[in-house]
Amino acid sequence: MAESILVLTHADETGRSLTKLSMEVVSAGKDLAARLDAHLAIGILAVDSVSAAGTVGGIGAPVFGVSDEAFAQARYGTDIAGYEALYRAVQPTIILAPQSSRMARVAAGLAHRIGGKVDTHITAIRTEGGLEVSRWLYRQRIETVITRSERPWVLTFEAGVYPPFEGTGGDVVVEPVAVELPPKRTKVIGVRAPAQAAQTIRPDARMLFVAGAGWTKKQADGQTHALEAGELILGFLQKTGASLGSSKSLVDQGGDGQPVLPFLTHMNQVGQTGSTPRHAKGLATCCHGEEPHVVGWRFIGDRRAISLDPNCGWARGKADVVYVADAFKVLAKVNELLGSRR
Ligand SMILES: Cc1cc2nc3c(=O)[nH]c(=O)nc-3n(C[C@H](O)[C@H](O)[C@H](O)COP(=O)(O)OP(=O)(O)OC[C@H]3O[C@@H](n4cnc5c(N)ncnc54)[C@H](O)[C@@H]3O)c2cc1C
Repeated sequence: MAESILVLTHADETGRSLTKLSMEVVSAGKDLAARLDAHLAIGILAVDSVSAAGTVGGIGAPVFGVSDEAFAQARYGTDIAGYEALYRAVQPTIILAPQSSRMARVAAGLAHRIGGKVDTHITAIRTEGGLEVSRWLYRQRIETVITRSERPWVLTFEAGVYPPFEGTGGDVVVEPVAVELPPKRTKVIGVRAPAQAAQTIRPDARMLFVAGAGWTKKQADGQTHALEAGELILGFLQKTGASLGSSKSLVDQGGDGQPVLPFLTHMNQVGQTGSTPRHAKGLATCCHGEEPHVVGWRFIGDRRAISLDPNCGWARGKADVVYVADAFKVLAKVNELLGSRR
């Protein structure tokens, strides 16, 4: 079957440029179109799709846009109407889209409306011997390979699978697509979000910093130093922009009445019963590196650890480099060096 591909994208909070993940899916579309020798089109949903299209300059594919003030907010009713209009304008067999919370909300509904199928959390595409896509299941333990004969086929892509498309700038001709929006039943009256500095989980950061339970355990002087630990960790995060992960033992301590780091929640937990983040580098500190924790590091490229224990799990082949040292001292020195560089 001759395939044709539509990449569905959406704007970021400014409403005038595409999200990083959307740009990654543009790369996926370009790659897949080349491999299948298929027709490629880009669909943009934004307040002003002409401005947002600036980022895909040089794509060499027709660009379609739906523009409306309503797209300033993620809203099921209006988003799905916009995407459906883009689909009907292009009539592709394959639709690639970002696995963003905004798109995840409408992807299944869109597939239903257009009489298609949907698969989500895609992490790889193969084209040898027919189109196959992969996703991970059961906490990243099972890789599933999916193929379908039904079309249209909606596929939402995880972050980090493709590099973001780098446009060459310049004007892009956007074909405006008319969309009839339904009456809005949801009105956004404001956004409550933690201050940027308080936001410790940063999926786009290059580095993951993991804090383990050792930070709140008794140290060589027989005392705990949770306050100092908190200051060192937050200082490091602020200076590097790293994302903060934690071991289960550390985040569980609040419930056990032991010293806690107040900025950590179960959302920070990495591992078998936590998250599996994707960062280029990872640094584990005061963490033993036990298997249920380290399985959450599956997608971390360069792994380092600071532990007092030369026999910790990291030292047994789970990290590229292990510094057998006191993390309090190491981090104080690193923060000092980072501070003097600025
Ligand atoms: C079913 C199941 C699911 C689980 N899921 C998860 C999960 O999702 N994520 C997870 O993290 N765990 C999980 N666990 C728990 C996991 O097995 C470990 O118990 C946990 O990861 C240990 O956390 P930790 O390494 O921070 O603490 P600890 O084992 O207490 O290790 C603390 C480390 O800090 C070091 N240390 C102390 N002071 C310093 C210092 N000053 N400088 C440097 N190093 C120092 C110590 O030498 C020690 O190695 C799970 C367990 C089970 C049974």
